[in-house]
Amino acid sequence: MIVGKRVLVKLSGEALIATDGYWLNPQTLTTLATDLKQAVDAGFEIAVVIGGGNVIRGAKVGAAGWIDRATADAMGMLATVMNSIALESALENAGAPARTMSAVSMPSICETYARQPALHHLAKGRVVVLGGGTGNPFFTTDTAAVLRAIELNCDAVLKATQVDGVYSADPKKDPTATRFDVITHDEAIHRDLKVMDTAAFALARENRLPIIVGSAHGAGAITAILKGEAPATRVTP
Ligand code: UDP
Repeated sequence: MIVGKRVLVKLSGEALIATDGYWLNPQTLTTLATDLKQAVDAGFEIAVVIGGGNVIRGAKVGAAGWIDRATADAMGMLATVMNSIALESALENAGAPARTMSAVSMPSICETYARQPALHHLAKGRVVVLGGGTGNPFFTTDTAAVLRAIELNCDAVLKATQVDGVYSADPKKDPTATRFDVITHDEAIHRDLKVMDTAAFALARENRLPIIVGSAHGAGAITAILKGEAPATRVTP
């Protein structure tokens, strides 16, 4: 185990896109849900924040000018709830009890996020899927992930990406790029490494929250990182 037992897993919406371009790939959802169930079975308490980039990114649509940014961000937050309830279903199908809690109240669809009930779900071994981002425009789900991780006393955020950690340069462009095993928040800023967006990273640094960056690609990838059996970068205070 490379961190404590309560972890918030941040998944990108983009990872859910199917090869034919459809916004949701059931196979990817099933693989992720099975992986998260393995993590729960291994003794981890798991909260999840999933992005909405497979459907819409508010900043991009807002910048195009045909809709204002706050409205586009509202659409983004709704997209995260769609992804969250899809993941909740996949988790339940995989045998992992799960609850979606949305920062934006929509009681006929899922629970509204509140800290105490979320802590209760986690203590009961349920996967808590946190939808709706922070509930505010002009933020991202990276910030929501850090915020909720701090609120819910998580030991770390696991930012699941397509690459197996944080590199000194873009490994796709620079063959000499090397992966960090451990790096401090301060050093990541000093070296201008993009671990998360600036607001999210500042919040993590201020609250001394470790961030683990690793690849969620493939069966059991997340559990392997949490157990310390797969490469990843640990950003620590
Ligand atoms: N969003 C928002 N407030 C939040 C979180 C998300 O307005 O607290 C909106 C924003 O438009 C964002 C979109 O939801 O672009 C989808 O989230 P994000 O871009 O973080 O998804 P990811 O890139 O992780 O798939």
